[in-house]
Amino acid sequence: MTYRIVVNGLDHAFLSEFGCTCGRCLWQRPLANTSVSVLGLSEGGEVAAHLLFDVGAGVVNSLTTSLRLGGHNARLDMLLLSHWHPDHVLDLNRLCETWRRRQARQGDPRDPLPTWCRSGTMDWLRRTHPYELTMLGVTPSNEYEPAGTLLPAIGLGMEGLTVTPVAVSHGTADRDPGDPARQLACSAAFVVETSRRKTLFLWDMDNQNDWIVTPSTPGHVKAKEKMAGADYVFMDCNTWEEESPAGKNTGHVSFRTVLEYTRALRLKDTSETVLLHLSGHEDGQDMPGWGWDDLRWQNEAARTWAEQGMPGAVRVPKIGDEFIL
Ligand SMILES: [Zn+2]
Ligand SMILES: [Zn+2]
Ligand SMILES: [Zn+2]
Repeated sequence: MTYRIVVNGLDHAFLSEFGCTCGRCLWQRPLANTSVSVLGLSEGGEVAAHLLFDVGAGVVNSLTTSLRLGGHNARLDMLLLSHWHPDHVLDLNRLCETWRRRQARQGDPRDPLPTWCRSGTMDWLRRTHPYELTMLGVTPSNEYEPAGTLLPAIGLGMEGLTVTPVAVSHGTADRDPGDPARQLACSAAFVVETSRRKTLFLWDMDNQNDWIVTPSTPGHVKAKEKMAGADYVFMDCNTWEEESPAGKNTGHVSFRTVLEYTRALRLKDTSETVLLHLSGHEDGQDMPGWGWDDLRWQNEAARTWAEQGMPGAVRVPKIGDEFIL
């Protein structure tokens, strides 16, 4: 079996905002979301495995219109959630409904969809998605470890593919659903490995992940080593520079921190850094990045990447882009 990543989406992670007149919100074309499918393909090109990472706005459209997932190839083996934030689960209802109908059409017993998330995210889903949970077979991680902790690999039963979650800091999501003023770890990044390639799904994360740059415990060192030297890094990139407008942390990193973290993760000359979660909203209209479309983001990022002598390439993906693992 060979594996590849396919980028999903329809609307970008930060939804177009009602009434906003920036170029990005008025942009009519579908945009990549922070969601990908990892497909296992047989020698004949049939889909033999499908892992779906996050399910934000429009992700179900990507699945139902995918050239690879049509007809008898329409399978889904597991849903993996980075965290509970709405922009990562907005299509969860549609996914569960379409899963239920597909099972009924095929005369299958109503097997729940195998799902993995951190226990903190499961705590949120119990409040926000009780109906959908009746169709999901969730294996929560059974931990609330702090950022910079390597979590046990997820049991996939897929030959030649491993997925290892890493606890990351994403302050706006790392909250106790019973008392949102209280901190509770909820967010994961994923390290996806085959014998040939290593990939990181680093969404969402904030600028409190200094363990990537200066690991201070044996646990941090272990997590960083697991992530270092990746071939593909899919990364949250929300603003150009400013991460705490008016003193309030956005919960995301800017392109400046993308440079800092990816430099610390020792990319290769052949690595590709793939920017997602682009917004340029939260730091305000007069800040760089405000209203940029994907092409502008890519051009500005690539120019800075070259100026700073960063290894490999940086780009903004389109829906349907594929990466061979
Ligand atoms: Zn806007
Ligand atoms: Zn988030
Ligand atoms: Zn998000």
